[in-house]
Amino acid sequence: MNSIKKIFYSHKRIFIFLSALIIFVLLLFLSSFTLNLKSRPFSYAVYDKEGKLIGAQVATDEQWRLEECEVPEKFEKAIIAFEDKRFYSHPGVDPFSLARAFSLNLKNHRIVSGGSTITMQTIRLLENHPKRTIFQKAKEALLAVSLEMRFSKKEILSLYCANAPFGGNGVGREAASWRYFNRAPDQLTWAETSTLALLPNQPALVYPGANKEILLAKRNELLQKLYKNGEFSEKILALSQEEELPQKPYALPALSPHYLEYLKKTATKDSPKNQSQTKFHTTLDSNIQLNSARILERWSEVFSKKGIENAAALVLETKTGNILAYCANTGGYERNPDNYAVDLIQAKRSSGSLLKPFLFAAMIDSGKLLKNQLVIDVPIRIGSYRPDNNLPEYQGVISAADALSSSLNIPAIGELREYGVSAFLAHLKRIGFTTFHRTADEYGLPLILGGGEVTLFEVTNAYAKMMNKSLDRPSDFPSSRGSVYLTLSALVEGARPRDEANWKKYAHSKKIAWKTGTSNGNRDAWCVGTTPEFTVGIWVGNAARNGNTELKSSFTAAPIMFDIFSTLGQTSWQEVPYSELKLVEVCEKSGFLAGKNCEKRRTAFTAKNAPISTTCPYCRIVSLTPDGKFQATADDLPAGELPLIQKRFVLPPNIENWYKRVNMSYNPLPPFVENHKKSTNQDLVIIFPDEKQT
Ligand SMILES: [Zn+2]
Repeated sequence: MNSIKKIFYSHKRIFIFLSALIIFVLLLFLSSFTLNLKSRPFSYAVYDKEGKLIGAQVATDEQWRLEECEVPEKFEKAIIAFEDKRFYSHPGVDPFSLARAFSLNLKNHRIVSGGSTITMQTIRLLENHPKRTIFQKAKEALLAVSLEMRFSKKEILSLYCANAPFGGNGVGREAASWRYFNRAPDQLTWAETSTLALLPNQPALVYPGANKEILLAKRNELLQKLYKNGEFSEKILALSQEEELPQKPYALPALSPHYLEYLKKTATKDSPKNQSQTKFHTTLDSNIQLNSARILERWSEVFSKKGIENAAALVLETKTGNILAYCANTGGYERNPDNYAVDLIQAKRSSGSLLKPFLFAAMIDSGKLLKNQLVIDVPIRIGSYRPDNNLPEYQGVISAADALSSSLNIPAIGELREYGVSAFLAHLKRIGFTTFHRTADEYGLPLILGGGEVTLFEVTNAYAKMMNKSLDRPSDFPSSRGSVYLTLSALVEGARPRDEANWKKYAHSKKIAWKTGTSNGNRDAWCVGTTPEFTVGIWVGNAARNGNTELKSSFTAAPIMFDIFSTLGQTSWQEVPYSELKLVEVCEKSGFLAGKNCEKRRTAFTAKNAPISTTCPYCRIVSLTPDGKFQATADDLPAGELPLIQKRFVLPPNIENWYKRVNMSYNPLPPFVENHKKSTNQDLVIIFPDEKQT
């Protein structure tokens, strides 16, 4: 103990000096924490899949200030050559340049040079340009050393670049690069990079006028310096010195303003910690975005003459669900001052017929439906509800696949009645729909005709998931692969609009599974199409929800979808997934599972595990007079004469009336002979629909 005391007293001064030094260094280290490194608000910025800026918003303080990416090598070289050539070797303060500045200023009797390092300038920027005094300079020097203790040189450089002024209301190298050259900083030439490197020192030089010559001279001087540093060849020097200076700043791109708003909203929603996220790297494809927006605008302009003001398009990469294009409204604020801000990709709107394929697949899995089974299409009334069909004629009966691809309403109502509204509602939620908030009773059967609301976003994603399921890619789509394949193959057959009508004749035509939908009162026109590569969803209508008789999906949404598909890359189609299907014997006439009375049979595919039990209800044994002209039982005939017994496809009268109008080949049963004795054993078929039923 004594010996320690002894050492202390004998070296007291050294101990006091060392303690003071440690406290000083500690204070120095801590002092940089007083700097608010993140105080300035950033602009929101969206980048496409290749890192190209495609949208930005001025920051809340009206400055263009983009969050920095890594400082590109060229820029680093230029800024160091121009501002602070010993940047990588000094500790935040450069005694040589301070001494040089001091003697220069003394000689000139005024401040010619500040002798500040990049680190000291960074402090000035972070402190918001305080007045230049000797005391301030000393403070900057100390803080600079402190900053160097906490951050790497690269980080300091990046902090400097983010906060430096670049003329006008542009702050930071990233924003300046886009504003003056419309390109990312890492894609600038040496001349462009050098121009940018000059600006933080004298931002006003970039304004047009006499300054141009000074700026040009300074830029070429810097290029010379870089050349002497061995950064590039003499040839590049000569070419670079020929390059022009930037003209008036470009407007920052606004390729998808609604997508930016959507990203802002979902970023805050998904992770509360991420509330300050301002920079979004997305999967958007600039070319697809531009092409889709152009097509959408062109069509929308035509529709606006008929009083249909808005439209939206969403393009997804099917496999990943990644968004390739997000065009959520049309017309801009000029044409749509009241509604342009509405994001119609996220708006909840009546689904029209878009849910029918999901029911179709679910029905196949339940064993209640075969793809080409006849379904009933006659006028019906359910309680006070009288659904309309969208064809001028009722078909009587029609194949389920044809009913789906022509989007007939009555067959869909019949299918939903059989499947059950609440079971289907649960199914829709399993697919991923989040917008069905009412009960099954509240929706009732109109659910399948647009009684519920969906967003273009969710419904387009649902079609992509369905395609992925069919291709055996990871997908949480709740139907079986077999049923989904059969559904998509039915959707390929829909009659395409005008220019696309003869698509099957052209080798380059794309095979697309697609579905249209028009909501009640012509308020919404939809079209969604899917291939293994792309899924495209279109909505057309009025954001204000007013209907318009001209609004029909096959004339509005469908042509837009096909036009967008024509600008996308090659698409493929899938092989038949035989292992997911089973062959069943069906009645050739009705498409139902063949019964004992069905005369002509064929095989058909259905989902592997579908438990089919209903056999053909239309084929029966009929008894006719020997000439076949009348129906007659043995009792009706003279003794010794035998009736002609046949297996025949016979529709019930209410269906037959409609069916024979569109099917000339149908051969109805002849009437009974005049003296017919009523048999007790009439082979009556009880089928949907019963008009009185509710
Ligand atoms: Zn049959």
